[in-house]
Amino acid sequence: MLPYFDQDHLLLQESARSWVEKNLARDHKDEADTEAAAQRLVRKLGKEELIAYVAPKRFGGVREEIQARDWCLLREELARGSSLADTMFSIQALGSYPITLAGTDDQKLRYLPPIARGEAIAAFALTEPQAGSDIASIQTRAVKRGRDYWITGVKSFVSNAGIAQTYVVFASTDPEKKARGLSAFVVEAGSRGLALKEKTRLLSPHPIGVIAFEDCVVSESNRLGEEGDGTKIALATLDTMRCTVGAAAVGLARKALEEAIRYSRERRQFGQELAQFQGIQFKLADMATELEAARLLVYQAAWSHDHGQADRKKNSSMAKLFATEAAQRIVDQALQIHGGIGLVAETPVARLYNDVRALRIYEGTSEIQKLVIAKELLK
Ligand SMILES: Cc1cc2nc3c(=O)[nH]c(=O)nc-3n(C[C@H](O)[C@H](O)[C@H](O)COP(=O)(O)OP(=O)(O)OC[C@H]3O[C@@H](n4cnc5c(N)ncnc54)[C@H](O)[C@@H]3O)c2cc1C
Repeated sequence: MLPYFDQDHLLLQESARSWVEKNLARDHKDEADTEAAAQRLVRKLGKEELIAYVAPKRFGGVREEIQARDWCLLREELARGSSLADTMFSIQALGSYPITLAGTDDQKLRYLPPIARGEAIAAFALTEPQAGSDIASIQTRAVKRGRDYWITGVKSFVSNAGIAQTYVVFASTDPEKKARGLSAFVVEAGSRGLALKEKTRLLSPHPIGVIAFEDCVVSESNRLGEEGDGTKIALATLDTMRCTVGAAAVGLARKALEEAIRYSRERRQFGQELAQFQGIQFKLADMATELEAARLLVYQAAWSHDHGQADRKKNSSMAKLFATEAAQRIVDQALQIHGGIGLVAETPVARLYNDVRALRIYEGTSEIQKLVIAKELLK
């Protein structure tokens, strides 16, 4: 048991683990199935009161204050069972946390309870075709006219595009100020001028696409925080989410190690189990050691977030960087141990190989995590 948990974390871990054992089958195949499976998963996780952990108690959640440790525990367990289940939980968190952080009580009461119950699907629209890591180059504009904002622009790689009810959208209200001119808005699906432009197919099941705003009118009352608060809100959200991406990596890597151990005991070559070869044993030992190191960084980062420690931003980036890179190596070695069977589509280890790749890219690539860590070290 890690020192970062209280008794209620362990209970949550236990109930998530047993829910995953009973409920998750890796049964999503093509894009249409992915969206249906994604929506089903959100409803299921909502009914089970697992998504409720994304909101504070007053707004449909479980605890008075959101805890990163809860999110990490849930993401580790869900990712071990199904990458799509983890994705659906995580985007409910990503798309609602800006509202928790910067919303008024009215905004929180309106948007958070349905998201926490899994009745509304959330999305977070920051990335654009020309603005990925560099959010200061965001082109989407929000122009104030009376008490409304008119939003125009395109957002790409929006998880849950087309199936979400609630989009948190980042747009420039003052282009000259670049990053300091960004503002955040809640835009409801069905708003005039908001359209799904295309669905994007990824390596691994993930509902995602491009959305376009053409003179989409949103009320001033849908702005989160003040004009110019957008970057602060986006980065605070990502700082919290990053250690949870590390937790998802730990879940995938754990499953990969389990599969590698199982297979190395089953498969015989040269008259003995693969597990008898020292070459295989060394691989398993390295995988287990990296996994444990990743887990420690993740839960240390989550603990430092929950306790408001000064180094929480650096810790969260370190956890994401190390855990996602380690998970990639662990999954790769698990596949290597499987030989040719590891490449057969739909086998657990082949799925893990596809599932793990995105984690080193989204919510800040590994390179961007290094920049964040260095900035914190040098400031
Ligand atoms: C599965 C998935 C889900 C996603 N979901 C969402 C979502 O819900 N909402 C959303 O807004 N976005 C989402 N994204 C977008 C994601 O956050 C971006 O892809 C990511 O931030 C990287 O941006 P980019 O793809 O434009 O790459 P770029 O920024 O173009 O980077 C390309 C390469 O250059 C490197 N690079 C860039 N700048 C530097 C630098 N200064 N120094 C060194 N190297 C650098 C990067 O590390 C990368 O290797 C998602 C992406 C994926 C893959």
